[in-house]
Amino acid sequence: MPLGTSPPPDAPVEIPMEPMGRYKQNGNGTNHTHTSYTSQTLCPSASYTNNLACELGGVAGTESPAGPTKKSLYENNGVAACSQKRALFIATVVFALLFLTSVIIAYTGPQSDCTCAGEKPPNFVDEDWNVTKTFVPRATNGQIFPWNNVRLPPYIKPTRYNITIHPNLTTLEVKGQVSIEFHVEKDTHFIVLHSKNLSITDKMIQDRKGHNLRITKMLEYTGAQQIYIEIKDKFRKRNNYTLNIRYTTKLGMDYEGFYVSTYTNENGDTRFLATTHFEPTYARAAFPCFDEPQLKAKFKMSIFRDRFHIALFNMPVVTTEDVGFYMGTGLLRDDFKESVEMSTYLVAFVICDYEHVNTNSDRGFPVTVYTPPTFTSQAFFALNITTHIMDYYADFFMVPYPLPKQDLVIIPDFATGAMENWGLITFRESSLLFDPVETSTAAHQSIAVIIAHELAHQWFGNLVTMKWWNDLWLNEGFASFLEYLGVDNLFPEWKMMEQFIVDKTQPALALDALSSSHPVSVPVHDPNEIEAIFDTISFSKGAAILHMLGKFLQQETLQNGLNDYLNTYRFNNADTKELWNVFSRNTNQSLDVKLIMDTWTQQMGFPLITITREDNEIIATQERFLLTTEGVNSTARSMPKSKHEYKWYVPLTYIADNDTECVYNVWMNMSDVRFEIDPDVKWIKANVNQSGFYRVMYDDAMWAAIINTLRKNHTVFNAADRASLIDDAFTLCRAGLLNATVPLEMSLYLINERDYVPWATAIEHFQSWSRILSESLSYKLFLQYMRKIMTPVTKFVGWNDKGPHLKKLMRSSILSTAVLCEINDTVSQAKTVFQNWMTKNETVPSDLKEVVYTAGIKYGGLAEWQHCWDTYNTTKVASERKLLLKALGAASDPWLLQRYLLETLERDMVKPQDVKIVLAVVSANPEGRLHAWRHLKAYWPTMQSLFGNATFMMGGLISAVTAHLSTPYDYYDVSTYFKGMHVGSASRALEQSLETIKLNINWVTQNQAEIYKWLRNYVNQ
Ligand SMILES: [Zn+2]
Repeated sequence: MPLGTSPPPDAPVEIPMEPMGRYKQNGNGTNHTHTSYTSQTLCPSASYTNNLACELGGVAGTESPAGPTKKSLYENNGVAACSQKRALFIATVVFALLFLTSVIIAYTGPQSDCTCAGEKPPNFVDEDWNVTKTFVPRATNGQIFPWNNVRLPPYIKPTRYNITIHPNLTTLEVKGQVSIEFHVEKDTHFIVLHSKNLSITDKMIQDRKGHNLRITKMLEYTGAQQIYIEIKDKFRKRNNYTLNIRYTTKLGMDYEGFYVSTYTNENGDTRFLATTHFEPTYARAAFPCFDEPQLKAKFKMSIFRDRFHIALFNMPVVTTEDVGFYMGTGLLRDDFKESVEMSTYLVAFVICDYEHVNTNSDRGFPVTVYTPPTFTSQAFFALNITTHIMDYYADFFMVPYPLPKQDLVIIPDFATGAMENWGLITFRESSLLFDPVETSTAAHQSIAVIIAHELAHQWFGNLVTMKWWNDLWLNEGFASFLEYLGVDNLFPEWKMMEQFIVDKTQPALALDALSSSHPVSVPVHDPNEIEAIFDTISFSKGAAILHMLGKFLQQETLQNGLNDYLNTYRFNNADTKELWNVFSRNTNQSLDVKLIMDTWTQQMGFPLITITREDNEIIATQERFLLTTEGVNSTARSMPKSKHEYKWYVPLTYIADNDTECVYNVWMNMSDVRFEIDPDVKWIKANVNQSGFYRVMYDDAMWAAIINTLRKNHTVFNAADRASLIDDAFTLCRAGLLNATVPLEMSLYLINERDYVPWATAIEHFQSWSRILSESLSYKLFLQYMRKIMTPVTKFVGWNDKGPHLKKLMRSSILSTAVLCEINDTVSQAKTVFQNWMTKNETVPSDLKEVVYTAGIKYGGLAEWQHCWDTYNTTKVASERKLLLKALGAASDPWLLQRYLLETLERDMVKPQDVKIVLAVVSANPEGRLHAWRHLKAYWPTMQSLFGNATFMMGGLISAVTAHLSTPYDYYDVSTYFKGMHVGSASRALEQSLETIKLNINWVTQNQAEIYKWLRNYVNQ
């Protein structure tokens, strides 16, 4: 516990919050003073359920005769109207009445096929699009919930929230009060808003003049996380009202809503902090609200805190007031400046005892990084690049950042990498902290990319927000594209746009080739569906198609379009159609951007462009590329139905061997094309720099000519094109379109390859093949082949931790792969360095740590494993911990692997957010894959309770553990285990995993004989 000063939890509760009442705006329109407190309380005694019991008893809407006392308002166990005895009495009467009614209905009432006939209340709303039409929602008290729609009524618009909150970090109790001003666009008796796990203790609605409106009903429906409030009179159209709610809740433990996180300080004490994570649908768990992205409003916040804490919000503190003693502790209240108009999911607040580092950007913009005290020295890199990237984006978009400050804050327990809350970005430790000695080049780059991503959101997502989550890709696709531009601008020598294809385009192409993929724009309704689309398609395919758009629009039009879009929709919302229209406008309507891009966002998948040559003519045809076990002519290619019939507007680019500097462009308008080439051209290479989102297949002669050129002088193609050829050849083989000998023959050129991007691409495919082949005859031969191909490049990268950024990245990745495929020189060198580190405490250079730790663990025993485990538990460097977590899974001893898996069930040993890393490395290890799968089955329910119900993590676990299984038995086992199980937001990941296992089985069956023959021939040469 953090605070020695707080009294025990059962101490009397007297929270010094503001009295409920109408907030009257003063002259300048930003600050509020509290005016009269008008009494209206329904069942002032405590919890919401009690209120409902009172309503059932017929006292709803009556004012407490004595009027509310301060005590009855603030106390949890207040006296007054609804004593326990009375509640019990009421409940008994109600039950008896209900029972009697049901008996009467059963025997005398009208008979109907539909059990719900006649039950729906007069204002029951059953919208057309709602898929659960026949379902009638029930409120917590058993009454019909009159609003049957996961979306809120569109005619209620919140305009301003005034939130006061007091989290107690000792008892974890939260007391909150919110006053929401809203505008009504049509006459109605009721409003509906969101609330999740909140106990509403008091509520009041006032009109513009401050008169109380009598509330006649309040219901909660947990299924849609909604509350329904009905009044006696009507809310009149074009009028404004204020809803005041007082509530209590508890700080959660599951990384969403308003939750508690901990860290250990240098004395070994556990310190507590309270933080929020609201995206996509968790703001409702911290305060009642209209929790939809298009319902933007201004937010004003007050936070009660202890003296030794600080409180952070999206906006800066304006005043801090001493509010006296509460539970033996001197309390302060921070009042924050009112925000600009923003979506609920971007609201954030943190209460912690951190320290900070801060500076101003060149444009004088204040940036602060908050960390636990021991980490401030690792915050400077983040601080520095934030100032640069903020200025760069403001210039690039030609739109200034609209808030007065930018804070970055570390949250030790965090579900995702980071979260773009406006002006208060939250980060996992390893996404922000940089230690110049300890952090590897890969982690260094990833920190820069994550920060650039969240900063891009400050414009794309925060200033202009998608109208609804079906366009999540607008947020995430843009941020995932712009993050590379941002870092590229800062570190041009990192060649980020070349790396873009390995990090974004290729993984998106891989996933989007499955029939269980989804279109970039996808209809979603409930929180589980919303959660499930935070995936590679929304992020990386979104980014890749924007990259393609940027190429055919050219930089200047792209930039003008972005500027136009941000200015047109600032502080507002937009959808995909509106974005495309802005771009069309910026090409002076010379390109119908919407027509083109609809074919990329509205249907899943992407085209395979097949290039064939007839004399001096090239014929380019397009069809959907799909990994399927059903053969080339399967109907799967046209399923599910698409209004574009799986045809695309493809900006086909190519170079030819007679002048590789000259890039040609040809539009394929949902059709095939023919074009002429010079008679002396031997090959063309299409999809230049892999900047288009499609794959390319050549005829046999052209493949042969390309492979021949690669092997003679691979630098005829630039690095991105070489990567693109490797990626296409290996993937076309996986799809059964290309004989395995083609990628294998092509890969022989890699003996001379010295660039990072082609190697990163090849390693990805090598690892994938080695996992899929691990139970087939070819496996050991394949490792021998990898050793032969990779030995020269291991010598090139060497062991001297020097050189440019990309060489360092490459060294780490090449040597680590060399250890996995057991290249002797690398293994023995790595083992020596490991022993010197373990026994003599010699430092390992940061970029060699991965290879050294992996080799030490893989070829070592208990002592080596234990040394790494101890280091993991003591090191203060987040990136070091992540590396060690990965390395620990490389053990060859099944007992160690089993022990390691069991550690993931202990929250204190492995944070839930890191469990996926452990399961992924253990299942990628041939010794561990079955253990990992058995572990997932055995502890699935435990893990679900560790991670909460609808988090981003469960789907990741399924893919990590099952995606490389490749036998029919595995398929049977996985599908049987999950059959009929409700996996929530993980359902798409499960479907994708099952499809992948099927593809693996099929591919091994089709190709293993050919692969075996080729490999045996090659290794015996
Ligand atoms: Zn994002």
